[in-house]
Amino acid sequence: MPLAYDLHTHSTASDGTLAPAALVARAAAAGVRTLALTDHDSTGGCAEAAAEAVRQGVGFLPGVEVSVTWNGMTIHVVGLGVDPGNRTLQAGLAGLRAFRDWRAQEIGCRLAKDGFPGTYERARDLSNGLLISRTHFARALVEQGHAGSVRDVFKRFLVRGRPGHVPGQWAALGDAVAWITGAGGIAVIAHPARYPLNRTQLHRLAREFKAAGGTAIEVVSGSHSPDDNRTMAAHAQALALLASAGSDYHGPEQPYLELGRLPALPAGCEPIWQDGSLAA
Ligand code: AMP
Ligand code: MN
Ligand code: MN
Ligand code: MN
Repeated sequence: MPLAYDLHTHSTASDGTLAPAALVARAAAAGVRTLALTDHDSTGGCAEAAAEAVRQGVGFLPGVEVSVTWNGMTIHVVGLGVDPGNRTLQAGLAGLRAFRDWRAQEIGCRLAKDGFPGTYERARDLSNGLLISRTHFARALVEQGHAGSVRDVFKRFLVRGRPGHVPGQWAALGDAVAWITGAGGIAVIAHPARYPLNRTQLHRLAREFKAAGGTAIEVVSGSHSPDDNRTMAAHAQALALLASAGSDYHGPEQPYLELGRLPALPAGCEPIWQDGSLAA
């Protein structure tokens, strides 16, 4: 029985492969009752998704996954129930997309110098033209036969110490949280087990996040192991953060991940959907 909530998903408005309406239709077919679309640094897919959600009878939360640089590392903060019309939020996201444009050209130049030409052009064509992610470069390099899988591309080309690595210069943590809460949303630390943080560092991140107005953490994530989910449930309780759950779905190309196919929140967590402001 899939979890009825899936509060972290991507569409073609960022690095997902399903159009927003197709994503919502698939979520409905998978039994999801409340879906959030949380594209990277953009709410561009939310209007289409919201319209389809009405047709499908699915609860919908407009959302976003904001890229943050914290202590020299990239952290993702999900915003749930944001007003896409909020000007401060949109100005902030536009700044992040401007960095993405510059970074994409820079990644393309660096890869070309290393003997892999044409990746920028192909990544741009694979994107919706509004936002280029490293995922688009990964798909381009796989297509060009330079790697066997997207995962393989990240390891060989796109992470620190590799030829296509360009360090992130994303939003400050406090700004990202302020954009989200200022737009009426709830801020959530995304997939916390994915960061190279020990307990002390994670708690410092959480303290700064809470001081800025953040209230929740993804306890259950499609990118977590069952052990990660349990560990993060304990952290959520220790930190008095609400618990969220999301697949981080990017499309049917990852057949091991399905919308809403998530384990229940471990006992003792306070689910984010009990927060009245999140009613979809
Ligand atoms: P970007 O925000 O453009 O730097 O790209 C980050 C995105 O790349 C993440 O949201 C994931 O979708 C994807 N990603 C990051 N690391 C990996 C990895 N090791 N394997 C596959 N996809 C990854
Ligand atoms: Mn992604
Ligand atoms: Mn993420
Ligand atoms: Mn994500």
